[in-house]
Amino acid sequence: MSQEPEKVKCLIIGSGPAGYTAAIYAARADLKPVLYQGLQPGGQLTITTEVENYPGYPKGTMGPQMMEDFKAQAERFGTDIRFGYATSVDFSTQPRTVIFDETHTVLADTVIIATGASAKWLGLESEQRLNGFGVSACAVCDGFFFKNQVVAIVGAGDTAAEEATYLAKLCKKVFMIVRRDEMRASKAMQHRVLNTANIEVLFNSETKEILGGKTVDGVKVFNNKTKEERTLEVGGFFVAIGHDPNSKIFNGWLDMDEVGYIKTVPGSTRTNVEGVFAAGDVADHVYRQAVTAAGTGCMAAIDAERYLAAKGIH
Ligand code: NDP
Repeated sequence: MSQEPEKVKCLIIGSGPAGYTAAIYAARADLKPVLYQGLQPGGQLTITTEVENYPGYPKGTMGPQMMEDFKAQAERFGTDIRFGYATSVDFSTQPRTVIFDETHTVLADTVIIATGASAKWLGLESEQRLNGFGVSACAVCDGFFFKNQVVAIVGAGDTAAEEATYLAKLCKKVFMIVRRDEMRASKAMQHRVLNTANIEVLFNSETKEILGGKTVDGVKVFNNKTKEERTLEVGGFFVAIGHDPNSKIFNGWLDMDEVGYIKTVPGSTRTNVEGVFAAGDVADHVYRQAVTAAGTGCMAAIDAERYLAAKGIH
């Protein structure tokens, strides 16, 4: 280790809505929080464009700007915000140990984990280039921008099925691109998809390329059974092939579900380790909204404050 360990009362890992909201509450409660921003400062909202469903912004706002506002509010009350990425933890120590960038050791009385989740992508160059310009990984966030248009969604799990039916209510038509000859989604969700008149499911289909210069205007799809390629004329392309919670470094320390979402005690943000709390998408695969993440960030700071008070740590 290149530096001396540092002792803090409240350590927040992550800088999306959950992390910054936890910081606002923790700073105002005089916990002197230190927040590490992680690999993607601002989190997933920095890769969206407009946000119209966050209460308090009647005219909407841009995702990256919103995160700047959250950050400024956290700083206003004295949060120490730093660049850095948590690389390992040791939760057997008291205070808890978190190491950043493999070099800096922080000893924390409370740890709030708000490391989020990352959408999985197909990995196409065109998908990356048009991300935020017609390509989205969140139908609930961005579907509204494609009202009365034709769109496509790739994926065949419950999320894709749910998002396809959500989009079908807003859009003229939805193509659902499924790579195998069947869907993984629950039978009930499949039934709903197959019985929605304006959803056309394309089985055995792979997305080859998303077309468009500045915005999406089509998708090239290859049928791996018939070997035929066709172009779908769509204005929006949604990717719903799953998310990965950013929880790997907590493996072995924290209880998680089978895909790595951190388990919390219902009605709280408490994990199975005393003094360690989880908020936002890293602990939530169901709602995944900025406002729900912010809500659980607030809960985590209150849980941390009460924990410190109960332990008599000042
Ligand atoms: P899943 O992992 O369940 O499904 C991902 C889907 O994406 C699969 O159908 C998979 O295809 C497909 N896929 C993966 N990679 C690619 C690729 N490169 N190209 C094309 N398709 C690809 O993720 P979900 O987000 O759908 O669900 C996560 C969990 O959350 C699940 O347990 C689900 O049940 C749950 N959930 C529950 C809901 C509810 O109950 N209302 C709503 C939403 C989610 P393949 O099948 O071929 O592997």
